[in-house]
Amino acid sequence: MRPLTIIGNWKMNGSLANNQLMLETLLAEGHETFKSLYCDLPISLGMCVPYPYLSQAHGLLKNTKVALGAQDVSDHPNGAYTGDVSAAMLQEMGCTYVIVGHSERRQHHQESDDLVARKAKATLQAKMIPIICVGETEKEYENGSTLVVVRKQLQAVIDLLQGQIASCVIAYEPVWAIGTGKVPSPAQAQEVHHQLRLQLATFNAEAAEKVAILYGGSLKADNAKELLAMPDIDGGLVGGASLNTEEFLALCQACI
Ligand code: PEP
Repeated sequence: MRPLTIIGNWKMNGSLANNQLMLETLLAEGHETFKSLYCDLPISLGMCVPYPYLSQAHGLLKNTKVALGAQDVSDHPNGAYTGDVSAAMLQEMGCTYVIVGHSERRQHHQESDDLVARKAKATLQAKMIPIICVGETEKEYENGSTLVVVRKQLQAVIDLLQGQIASCVIAYEPVWAIGTGKVPSPAQAQEVHHQLRLQLATFNAEAAEKVAILYGGSLKADNAKELLAMPDIDGGLVGGASLNTEEFLALCQACI
């Protein structure tokens, strides 16, 4: 049985004052949902924040059960890559998770499947957990190529990581559902998650059982329960709703 994992993704949002308010409120009000965010939780929780706020968030979240994450990483270990941030740096800042291959990176920064795989490898080498995003665009959904697209994205990562895929988290995020309020039906999402798990199983049955496959795309308190009840949906990657502490806690509440 895989434990549920809920990871927030603030995207490019925040300010020192607002982050402090959101994280302090999360920790203070978390006891309604979890009794306390300082002791063992029934689910794994994480928050992926913009690079400049990692230090602030680490200060507020250390010694709690809310893990810290980043939203991207360089595939290079160090060197002349102005503006990039290495996995070792993120690890030093206290990160447990790194999102790689988010559709907004693939779309706005032309990140290829191979680059995403290299970023996942760099994350693992620095002893953090990559959250590898896959998902089809609206056009691909409409022309029925969802499975072709997500399988290709996942295969690039399996080919590079081989057995290390067992230490990753996968997030299925249909691009047409991100920030739009549209969501696939639980059965539709389950089918894609199931196919991704079968693909992992053709490579390694043990990895397939172990790897958490999260759903992301307009996940909210009022649709989380049904989606997360599906056997191959092991949690959620939450964008917009992670910026509203009440909504985020209500979403967690709905799935425990
Ligand atoms: C995301 O940013 O990964 C995401 C799923 O966003 P949203 O929840 O806002 O759709």
